[in-house]
Order: sequence, then C-alpha cells, then structure tokens
Amino acid sequence: NLYNQIQDLKGTIRVYCRVRPFLQGQSNGECTVDYIGENGDMMIVNPLKQGKDSRRVFSFNKVFGTTITQEQIYGDTQPLVRSVLDGYNVCIFAYGQTGSGKTYTMSGPDLTNEETWGVNYRALRDLFDISKERTNAIKYEVYVQMIEIYNEQVRDLFTLDIRNNSQLNGLNVPDAFIVPVTCTQDVLDLMRIGQKNRAVGATALNVRSSRSHSVLTVHVRGVEVVSNSILRGCLHLVDLAGSERVDKSEAVGERLKEAQYINRSLSALGDVISALAQKSPHIPYRNSKLTQVLQDSLGNK
Ligand code: ADP
Ligand code: MG
Repeated sequence: NLYNQIQDLKGTIRVYCRVRPFLQGQSNGECTVDYIGENGDMMIVNPLKQGKDSRRVFSFNKVFGTTITQEQIYGDTQPLVRSVLDGYNVCIFAYGQTGSGKTYTMSGPDLTNEETWGVNYRALRDLFDISKERTNAIKYEVYVQMIEIYNEQVRDLFTLDIRNNSQLNGLNVPDAFIVPVTCTQDVLDLMRIGQKNRAVGATALNVRSSRSHSVLTVHVRGVEVVSNSILRGCLHLVDLAGSERVDKSEAVGERLKEAQYINRSLSALGDVISALAQKSPHIPYRNSKLTQVLQDSLGNK
C-alpha cells in the first residue's frame, strides 16, 4: 500500500529494491525472484503457497538483481547526493528484515576495500570530490553526526570519544554532536568510533544493531565566494532496524519491548510518508524519534 502512495510522490521519493544472493545453505522454502522487469516490476514466487497465490508482483522505481555491484547501486543515488551541495536536504533509508542486506548496502562488508564500500562512504567521497572541484566558486565545509535510536532513545555515537568541537560555525543541529571532516579517511575513522560506541552495553552487536535505527547525517555548509551568501544542505543515511514481525507469542520482556518500539517507529515513518503523499496539511512528524530526527529532509525543501 505504501508503495502505491509512494508512486504519487515520484521525483520526491523513490523506492528501489535490491535482491541479495542466497546466503550459504539458504534456498529451500525461501521465496525466489521469478523475473525483474525493466519498468521496476518484479515477480516473487513463494514455494510454500499454491497456484495463483504463490506468485506476486511488486512495483518499485527500479529493481536491482543479485549481480548488481555496490558501485551500480550508488550510481542511481548519486545525483541526489550531489544535490545536497546545492542546498537540498536528502534522506536515504535501507529498509528490510534483518539479514536482507541493509548494512551491506549502506556501509559495505569490508571498509578496507574501497570496491565494496556502500552508499555511505561513496556519498561522502563524492561530496568531498565535488566540493574540491567547486572550490573557486563555493567554499564548503562538511560535518558528520552519527546517532542510534534504540527503544525511542537517541544515543549519540560520537560523544563518548570526541569531546571537543569548537567549529560548529553556527550550524543549527539539535542535540547530537557534529564533527568537521575533510576527507573520507576522517569519515572512516569516525565510523569506527561510532561502531565501537554502538557496541557498548550491547550483549551482541549484531542483535543490537538489528534492533536499532542508525542515522549518519552529513551537514554541508557552503559560502559563495562572490556573493558571500551561505547555503546549507543535509544528507541523512539511515540503516533502519529490522522490519521483521516478532511473533507475539515468542517475544517477552526486552525482546517484546524492542519489537513494539520498532513497529511503532516504522509505522510512524510510514504515516509520515503517506501524509506527504496525500499532501496532507498535517504531517505527523512528532510521533516518533525517527521521524523527528529526519523531519528536515522528509518534507519539501
Ligand atoms: P541487515 O543489515 O539487513 O541485517 P546485512 O547487510 O548484515 O543485513 O546482510 C546479511 C548478510 O548477507 C551478510 O553476511 C552480508 O554480507 C550478506 N549480503 C547482503 N547483501 C549482499 C549482497 N548484495 N551480495 C552479497 N552478500 C550480501
Ligand atoms: Mg544490519
């Protein structure tokens, strides 16, 4: 249903589907992709269902198959990322069940290998490259911020290590800590700190990371050399908590609480998107921490 509403927002919101290959030992009883159409349609076959019910078509702006590389995935998003340097606000989410490839797509499996970098690092590398190209016309400053939202609590993933930041330069950033960066190495170093802090207090990092939303925000501030006018843009890169339904009969205690928070915040995100799609005068941003944090890039700007 959400996909249909999103169709009305073409140009403003785009939905891509990435199909990941089967992992080792996985395949029996799993849904498979029957075909991927050029127009963004795909057909899924569910072997556990019979006849007509076993096949369903889903529509996206585009579907990427299992052989698509990280570079190709980023290619489609690149113009959006670049628009941040022109003063637009952009938000990129990875949505899906735990194990579907969100972190692989956003961050990548191996930071030491640039080929495998995900959207996050490619986006920042691009922002740095273009800001260098434009340096005679516009002087850019880039800042990053990294937070985690777990059980409706926002946790800053940088503050535990970096306490000094005198260079905020009048950027208007609520609460969380922002750090100036000048190259992808700075970003890699910071992401390591963020990842490490994310693990603090978590029983198992992968469990925690699939139960929380992580938001990497890039703030860009540009000063036009001739006019001295200032432009600001921001890019949110979001690795959402796993969208799987937790079986009510199985989940108890912490697990149940986590599941409820996740369901609530993902549906708050859905509500905001459908309100935007319907051009509703009231957009319910305040129903979750996630939509509050992303508010400035979900509306029109
Ligand atoms: P999520 O963050 O959605 O829980 P991950 O990104 O951790 O999922 O992916 C789960 C597993 O699948 C990881 O082992 C990852 O390396 C692998 N994987 C995900 N996407 C791909 C892909 N496109 N190609 C190859 N392996 C992938
Ligand atoms: Mg993940």
